[in-house]
Amino acid sequence: MSELSPYSFFQSVEKSFDKAARFTTWDIGILEQIKACNSVYRMRFPIKRDDGTIEVMEAYRVQHSHHKLPCKGGIRFSDEVNQDEVMALAALMTYKCAIVNVPFGGGKGGIKINPKKYSSYELESITRRYTSELVKKNFIGPGIDVPAPDYGTGEREMAWIVDTYTSLKPGEIDAAGCVTGKPVSQGGVRGRKEATGLGVYYGVREVCQMPDVMEKLGLTVGVEGKRVVVQGLGNVGYHTAKFFRENGAKVIGLAEFEGAIFNEEGLNEEDVFQHRKRTGSILNFPGSTNLTVNTDALELDCDILIPAALENVINIDNAQRIKAKIIGEAANGPCTPEADEVFIHKGILCIPDMYLNAGGVTVSYFEWLKNLSHVRYGRMEKRFTENMNARILSQIEELSGKSVSDKERLFIMHGADEVDLVHSGLEETMITATREIMEIWKSNVNIPDMRTAAYVSAINKVATSYAELGIFP
Ligand code: NAD
Repeated sequence: MSELSPYSFFQSVEKSFDKAARFTTWDIGILEQIKACNSVYRMRFPIKRDDGTIEVMEAYRVQHSHHKLPCKGGIRFSDEVNQDEVMALAALMTYKCAIVNVPFGGGKGGIKINPKKYSSYELESITRRYTSELVKKNFIGPGIDVPAPDYGTGEREMAWIVDTYTSLKPGEIDAAGCVTGKPVSQGGVRGRKEATGLGVYYGVREVCQMPDVMEKLGLTVGVEGKRVVVQGLGNVGYHTAKFFRENGAKVIGLAEFEGAIFNEEGLNEEDVFQHRKRTGSILNFPGSTNLTVNTDALELDCDILIPAALENVINIDNAQRIKAKIIGEAANGPCTPEADEVFIHKGILCIPDMYLNAGGVTVSYFEWLKNLSHVRYGRMEKRFTENMNARILSQIEELSGKSVSDKERLFIMHGADEVDLVHSGLEETMITATREIMEIWKSNVNIPDMRTAAYVSAINKVATSYAELGIFP
């Protein structure tokens, strides 16, 4: 609960769930079971700081649903971490996995720290100790619960987790699958780092390809030329901005902690990132205008707004002032239920977090499958495909008497690498999920928004799975 919303984050998720449940025909008992958090593990453990003092850490791991195993969800390092937040994020993971047909139950973890205030040595001992606490209670493992990066964590922390797990479970052949988002050298998959941002791009692009939806919003079809604002230049925000820019959109605004910048001609996220690294601030980026209050960026006149930082940033306070036609929720829970009501009233299309930012978990699924199969994607078929393509091409050239350019030859012959297959699997997943949700939305005029349609999709899939398990006769 905060002054911006009368509901806690978990209550907001439940509220959205209830709103959607009305459009399903499932028994109330099934709906209650789907909503409930199955296991909540709250832990306290000490770590020794570099100056010799002892500090007690507050940490959580929540397994929201066991309807499919393992559970899956990121680990967050943030000052704001609390039980309610972790429960809400775990619940969103259940719904997210269901929507994108990834066979996991939802989970989430968090440690209440600001990682910027700890040395890398301290962060390593916190992460390793957290992992051993999870092992002790059987809350981690390739078939039990598989964490991943989230706000404030990345490849480095995932490498510490897999190393700690492996040393505590010697001989476990599938140990690398205990966590995803690892560096490639530690069993990670190529394409994971950019996956969430790329998934956001694919999801928004699919919506922008729908003529009827674009007509209603008063926008032209396609992503090209769209004016985009991104809040948060971390992993998700950076890559979302990158893929929009590379595909012809203009990123006219970028917001970070310390402020925001605006340039109608478009910003290059990598240049801004380097500028911030050099100067310690996003502000004063050459050619751009400073907005000293970072939330002002959310209110810029634009076609697509991408909140990619934290939850509750668009709320009853500022929702009326949002000028974007489309909001793509890259972060988890950036818009409150009160803001949703305003969007419905104003005709703003909000593409919901629970499926739009599913790129991370989708590629995590591919990483987990790679770990269990112990073979890199593309290893078995790449050469075969290239040899086959070369033969087909030479036959066509012989029969037609014409030959293709060297550039075309390379393109046609290319056999898929790991990253090609991962991107292709992600694209397919996001397109399918977008179409399924839109179908549900269009099939019932009383469904008020895309978030509700996404929840209906998730509820139907999880409930079907319970029913098929025979848990509910
Ligand atoms: P990150 O830590 O890499 O980046 C977050 C960025 O947001 C940081 O640069 C931070 O300084 C900035 N920020 C924080 N508060 C801000 C504010 N008030 N205004 C502007 N900028 C602010 O985290 P991330 O992995 O990019 O995650 C961002 C969001 O996306 C979170 O909500 C997370 O749960 C969600 N998400 C992440 C993934 C993933 O794969 N990393 C997957 C799904 C969802």
